[in-house]
Amino acid sequence: MSGDPIRVGVLGAAGRMGRAVADAVTAADGMVLVAAVDPSAPGSRVCDVEVVADIRDLVEAGVDVVVDFTVAEASRVNLGVLASAGVHAVVGTSGLDETDIGELRAAFTSSNCLIAPNFAIGAVLMMRFAELAAPWFETAEIIEVHHDGKVDAPSGTAIATAERMAAASADWAPDPTTRVVMAGARGAAGPADIRIHSLRMRGAVADQEVVLGTDGQTLTIRHDTIDRGSFMPGVVLAVRRIAGIPGLTVGLDVLLGI
Ligand code: NAD
Repeated sequence: MSGDPIRVGVLGAAGRMGRAVADAVTAADGMVLVAAVDPSAPGSRVCDVEVVADIRDLVEAGVDVVVDFTVAEASRVNLGVLASAGVHAVVGTSGLDETDIGELRAAFTSSNCLIAPNFAIGAVLMMRFAELAAPWFETAEIIEVHHDGKVDAPSGTAIATAERMAAASADWAPDPTTRVVMAGARGAAGPADIRIHSLRMRGAVADQEVVLGTDGQTLTIRHDTIDRGSFMPGVVLAVRRIAGIPGLTVGLDVLLGI
C-alpha cells in the first residue's frame, strides 16, 4: 500500500458497531484511526484514541473519512457538519428516510457520502438476489431477526429489500386474509404490500429471510450474520473507496459491481 494512510474518525465510538469499526480500521492496511466521538463516553479510550464528546473536535483532528454508526437524530446533525467541513462520510446508522437522503444529496457537494442499510456483503447479495427473483413470483414476505437491543423495526435492510422487490415487479397477489384474529399477525405492510415480520431475539445479531412463492414452488433466500465482524469488510471497503465515488451513494452495490 503506498501513499499517506486514510485518516479515519468514528462516530458512536463507544457503541457496539463503533468499537468494531475502530478495531477494523486499526487492523486494516492503509488507514489509521485518528478520532473517536461518543457523548456517552468522553475520556474513555478506543484503540488507543481518546473518545471525545463533540464532533467539532473530530473535524479538527484532520480526518479524511468519518464512519457513523449512531442513531438517526444524531446522524442528521453530524452529517451536516461533515458535509460543511468537506469530510467524506460512511454511514451505517438506521432510520434515515427519503427526506434525509434528499437533504444529504444536496449537502454533500465538496465531499462524498455513502449510506448502506447493510454493510454485510452477503446481505447486499441477498437483496440483489431478491430483486432478481421478484418478477418470477407473485407472493413474497420478509422475516428479519435482530438482537434484543435494536430500537427500530422493521430493520433498514428489510425495508430496502421490500423497496427493491416492489420496484422490480408490480405483479403481486393481494393478501388473502379477511379475518385477523390477533393484531399484527400478518406483519407490517411494506412497499407493494410485501409483509415484513420483525423478530427481536436475545443471542441473535442480524438475520433475514426472503420467502417468495408461485405455483408449486417457494424460494427462500436467507442471510445470517454470526457476529458484527460480518459488517467490517464492507465498512473497510467503503472507507477505502469513498473518495472516488462522488456525491451521495446509497448501498454497497456500486462498490461490489453488482
Ligand atoms: P449502540 O447503541 O451500541 O451504539 C450507538 C452509539 O452511538 C452509542 O454509544 C451512543 O452513545 C452513540 N451516539 C449517540 N449520539 C451520538 C452523537 N451525536 N455522536 C456520536 N455518537 C453518538 O448501537 P449499535 O448496535 O452500535 O448500532 C448503531 C447503529 O448502526 C444503529 O442505527 C443500527 O441499527 C445500525 N447498524 C447498521 C448496520 C449496517 O450494516 N448498516 C449494522 C449494524 C447496526
